[in-house]
Amino acid sequence: MAWGSFALLFALLSGVAAGPHIKKEMVESSERHNRYYHYEELRERLRSLAEAYPRQAQLFSIGQSVQGRELWVLRITAELHAQIPDRPQVKYVGNMHGDEAVSRQVLLYLADYLLRGYLRDPRLTRLLNTTDIYILPSLNPDGFENASEGDCTGNRGGRENARGRDLNRSFPDQFSPDSHPDLSEVPEVSAMINWIQSNRFLLSGNLHGGSVVASYPYDDSHRIQFLVSTASLQMMKCLNT
Ligand SMILES: [Zn+2]
Repeated sequence: MAWGSFALLFALLSGVAAGPHIKKEMVESSERHNRYYHYEELRERLRSLAEAYPRQAQLFSIGQSVQGRELWVLRITAELHAQIPDRPQVKYVGNMHGDEAVSRQVLLYLADYLLRGYLRDPRLTRLLNTTDIYILPSLNPDGFENASEGDCTGNRGGRENARGRDLNRSFPDQFSPDSHPDLSEVPEVSAMINWIQSNRFLLSGNLHGGSVVASYPYDDSHRIQFLVSTASLQMMKCLNT
């Protein structure tokens, strides 16, 4: 899943034609890329980006985790208060499994990169002028705080939320209609469902860690022909290669 999502990310970036010639140099990032950020520091980084780029970035929460941590989203688009209609909505979600932490950092770096490049890099400028981007670095902040840095086995805690639930296995499943996940145990999942249903995301990436896997929409179907006949399959294959 992780590499497929990265490929999706790069495809999104590289698929945008160059905009008007812009000669300004990129501002150097203050990020050092050498450690993970805990909840408070991640929150402050996101908040500082929103404050530094008030016309292109907006920070909000879609809900709270079991232990009361906010599920922060940084929305990034040009002139976001101008109510420009019909920009396609794209979202990235990271750290759904709390001990799979790379995506959490990568998405923060992506937000920093996009904002630093606006009105400086033609490609990034065009991207923010045409796309409504939403970045949720951590869907499982409680799990992250419970994880052990350096654990590559996945056995030392942090994968699940604070009630021991695997968020990635707690969504309703259209192919198993008899399964009814108890959403009261997973407020993170409830927040995500409400957020999805109140928006119109055209493209999404959910970044995990630990395996080189790209999962396509509906690929948990028991009927392979369902997947094959999915209209978006060819596009997903293209984005993931
Ligand atoms: Zn995962």
